[in-house]
Formats: sequence, structure tokens, C-alpha cells
Amino acid sequence: MSDKEMVNLENVSLKYHSLEGETHALKDISFTVNEGEFIGIVGPSGCGKTTILSLIAGLIKPTTGQVLVDGKTVEGPSTNVGYMLQQDYLFEWRTIMQNALLGLEIHNNMAEEFKTKTEKLLETYGLGDFKNHYPDQLSGGMRQRAALIRTLAIDPKILLLDEPFSALDYQTRLAMSDEVSTIIRKEGKTALLVTHDISEAISMSDKVLVLSQRPATIKNIHVIRLTSEEDRPISRRQAPEFREYFNTVWRELDVHVE
Ligand code: ADP
Ligand code: MG
Repeated sequence: MSDKEMVNLENVSLKYHSLEGETHALKDISFTVNEGEFIGIVGPSGCGKTTILSLIAGLIKPTTGQVLVDGKTVEGPSTNVGYMLQQDYLFEWRTIMQNALLGLEIHNNMAEEFKTKTEKLLETYGLGDFKNHYPDQLSGGMRQRAALIRTLAIDPKILLLDEPFSALDYQTRLAMSDEVSTIIRKEGKTALLVTHDISEAISMSDKVLVLSQRPATIKNIHVIRLTSEEDRPISRRQAPEFREYFNTVWRELDVHVE
């Protein structure tokens, strides 16, 4: 991790306008993510989590305030930022290799060099033997890994992960969060993970940002320091401090069961 600031939100507010009226999604949000840092974002459903990622991805513009990526104001989508969603959105009629190359194809970047790199990513992360298979021949976890590799293939500086594991069963989800975190750290990426799973956020992140009900404001930013044998989510979950962070974030989220 470096001291270089990779993502900056400065007093960001966002209001959506639609036929039904105005929705105030974000109110005065400011935070910084340094290069190589992994940030978890938790908050009540509908509070504005996805909105924050969409701003960083350049899909929408703030109503007021500034969004900067790598020191520059975000003007629109760019290959600096990779987005990974809840569903893996693999195309069933394309092989894993063809799916992995999709981002490059869209950005007109099909040089041999990138193909070789993508192939290498598939091999490094256990999909080398499956590159000519179709998505429906893969398990849910492997599909998600393929989707991550597709995102990594365009070599983004920042990865945005929007509840990427919520479609997976619990066991696969634990294994995948461990894998994805290891891959992202190994590739030296800066990452923002939106999740409603407090344990997932704490085990994967350097910092956890807690949002309020809509319009989202920042309730707290927790720097996560865990004493664990290995610096990977599965091991971090066993750390003695884990429960305390969990309880604090849980209380801050103030979830009421109706
Ligand atoms: P979260 O990801 O935390 O569940 P979102 O960021 O998706 O929340 O949405 C925040 C609020 O903004 C919600 O009330 C949602 O209905 C509203 N919203 C999201 N996208 C749009 C849009 N394109 N137009 C109008 N309202 C939207
Ligand atoms: Mg969302």
C-alpha cells in the first residue's frame, strides 16, 4: 500500500431525478482511498452504496462535490476502473477465454500482448484447463473467478465490487472472498467492495466505511487491524479482535427487524 491517493470523494451529494420525483441518495460524502488499499462499504439496503460505485466508475456525475480517480476529475467511464457485479454476466455462448477477452474487445485492445496476459491470468488462477469451456460447464465459484479475470484483463487501477458474492451459497462465498481478496492483493489493485455482509467486509478490508440510511452520510470509517496468522480473509476471521469490530459495525448499522 502506498500514500498515493487513488480515489477521492470531496463533499459529494447526489440527487436522482425521475418522473416519481427526487431521490436524495448521497449527502456530503468525503473519503479517500490510497493506492493498493481495500475498502469495504456497508450500509442499509437502498442507502446509496451502488451510487457511490457508479460515481467512481463515471456512470453518473455528482450533483455537487468532486469525484477524483488517480488525481483527475472523473469525466466518464475509463479503463482505469473495472466493475464487478453481483451476477457474473458471462455470455453463455462464448468460451471462458472469449468471455475473459470481452473487456479488451470492447476497448478495441486486442493486441497479442493482452491476449497472452489474459491467458496467463486464467492459468495462474486455475482456469487454464477451462479456457475453451463454456460458462455452464463451470461451478458458481469458477464463473465468478472468470468474471474477475475478465475485469483484471483490462488492467484497471481500481476494482469496484458490488456485492459480488451474494448469488453464491455460503461455503462458496467464503472460499471466493478468500480467493478474490488474495488475487486483488497479489495484482496490487485498489479495491472498493460493497457488501451487506459485515463479516465479509471486515475480513477482506483495510478499512470499513459505514453509511447511514438514505441520504447516505458517512457514519464512521474503521481502520481494521487484526492479529491473524495469515493476512487472508479466512484467517482474519479467526482474529481475537474480529468480534469487536463486528459488534461495533452491527450497532452502527442499527438494523431493525420488522
Ligand atoms: P444501495 O446500493 O445502497 O442499495 P442505491 O445506490 O442503488 O442503493 O440506491 C440509492 C437510492 O437511489 C435508492 O432509493 C434507489 O431507489 C435510488 N436510485 C438508484 N438509482 C436510481 C436511478 N437511476 N433513478 C432514480 N433513483 C435511483
Ligand atoms: Mg446496491
